[in-house]
Order: sequence, then C-alpha cells, then structure tokens
Amino acid sequence: MFKQLKIEELEHRADIEPRYLRDDQISALRNNFEGHIPLEQRKSYEEIEHVVSEKFIGMFSSFITEEQKKYMRGSRIIMVDHKEMDTFVKGIEEYTKDQDHSRAALDGMIYRGYGLASDEAQSEREKILPYNKEDEKGDRGVQTWHGRIPIVPIFSTFETTYPDKTLLMNEATFAAGDYPMSRYLEPFVITNRWGAMALHEKIHGVQDYDIPLPILEIAAHAYEQEVFQKNGWEVRKMPAFNEAIRIWKTLQEKMGDDLYRYIFGNLPLARKKEIDVELQNIFTSEYIQEIFPQVIWKTEKIETFPS
Ligand SMILES: [Zn+2]
Repeated sequence: MFKQLKIEELEHRADIEPRYLRDDQISALRNNFEGHIPLEQRKSYEEIEHVVSEKFIGMFSSFITEEQKKYMRGSRIIMVDHKEMDTFVKGIEEYTKDQDHSRAALDGMIYRGYGLASDEAQSEREKILPYNKEDEKGDRGVQTWHGRIPIVPIFSTFETTYPDKTLLMNEATFAAGDYPMSRYLEPFVITNRWGAMALHEKIHGVQDYDIPLPILEIAAHAYEQEVFQKNGWEVRKMPAFNEAIRIWKTLQEKMGDDLYRYIFGNLPLARKKEIDVELQNIFTSEYIQEIFPQVIWKTEKIETFPS
C-alpha cells in the first residue's frame, strides 16, 4: 500500500526543501489511498477538514502567506483506515530518515519524532474521549516533511457512524442540546476528535521546518487548541502536553504576533534569529524532558566540526 506514495516528487532525498505538492499530485495520492472509502464517508470527513481549516485562516490570516492559505483551504488530508495507519507511519519514517534536519537542531540534537513512554501514557490518551474501539490502534495523524502531506486516520471504513460538521461543539453545548445520546454521542466524539487531529496536522503543514520539532509540536498543539476553544469546540489534550501548552501561552503573551510569524516562517531573518536564540535558551534538552515526562523523543546527535 505504502509503495504508492513513491511519486516523483518524493524521490529526491538529498538536500530537499520542504514545499507543497501540486494540486494534481495531491489528487493522485488521494485517489490512490482513499478509493476504498465510501464516498459519503469521505465527504463527511472532508467537510470537517474544510470547516476547521477556514477557521484557522480566519484567525491567523495576518501571519500566513497566500500560498499557505491556499494549502489550508485545499483538500489536503490523505485519509487512511485506522488499521492501515501503523504500516503507513512506518513507511513514512523509513522514507524520510535520510532527510537533513540539521538546521533544526536544538541543543546539538536533531529531534525526528516522538512516541509515548509507557502503556499508561497511551491508555491516558485513550481515556481522553469515550470512543475507544479495538481497531483504533495507530490513532495518530502524521505530516510528511517533504510535500507537506497530512495523513490522518479515519475511523474504520466498516464504520457506519460518520462525523457531522454540525456537531463541532463542546461538551456543555452538546449536553444542553437536543441530542439523544444513543444516536449522537459517537458522531459528536468522532467529529471533534478527528477535527482536532486534522487541524493539528494541517498546522504542521504551514510551519517553518527549520524550527526544532519539540517547539513545532508545542506550537501546533497550542494553536489547534486556540482555534477549537475560540470556536467553542471540544478539544482535549494528553496530560503530557498540558504543561507545554501553558508555557507556550506565556511566551505568546510576551512575544505577541512575532511568535506566530516565527512559527509560520514569515519573519525577517534577523528577527527570526533573535527568537531562535530566545527559544533555544528556554527549551534545553533537560527542559523538554521535564515538560514532557511521558514522551520519548527520537533524537540524533548532530556532527560537529571544529571551527
Ligand atoms: Zn504534531
């Protein structure tokens, strides 16, 4: 299945710059991977992608470029079945392992990815929302560095419960509304949970990839939460991320709009470098371990040359 991802644009590994695939390449990928998903199901997920992305553009439009807006506006997410997600992620890791991320080093370390430290941390995550079926292992979106392809698992293709954009709301609104649980609980949970995951992966697609991964992760979680809370939608975070988001909010207050522009790669270089230094002083490897006690980062020491 994964072999099909080897389209022309992904085959130049050395010294590549992250950039967007063309619309026709995205369509080809989507047709390859989503062909087996019933059209109505695919459409219901795509509608969620559009609603959350438009809200993001509305809130962040002064910090992102026209190209980034176009990316956010498009149908960019490749949907895969939960059962296929693990294979897919392994394939992507294999495929992108040679990419040069040395400019995004932090404290002499390149951060390539992360996993949860323990089964307890994983089950913490599974407790986040009640929807918890056997086939949901591999319940995590990913974003490819090159091509900026967000890949987000949908609930099973055998599932007859689809998300519904009118159910993007928080628990209080849901509880106060006229929604019989037996019929609406699952779609409510699927809608908000998938929406948050989809937005998170698309936010990664408009980030500056010269920034170290732990910082990009914190920012993606924080901005995803910002969009969901502002719109009164339900979003819950793994406890492992709460502390990091809290720290990010204090930085955001202090640095203001420059921090948004920094994350989205739209700051003049001199100012970008100042923020690089400021953040690197805060996010040392010890500090990252401390604020993410349940996360194991996949790191690699960068080679240093005597100057
Ligand atoms: Zn992420």
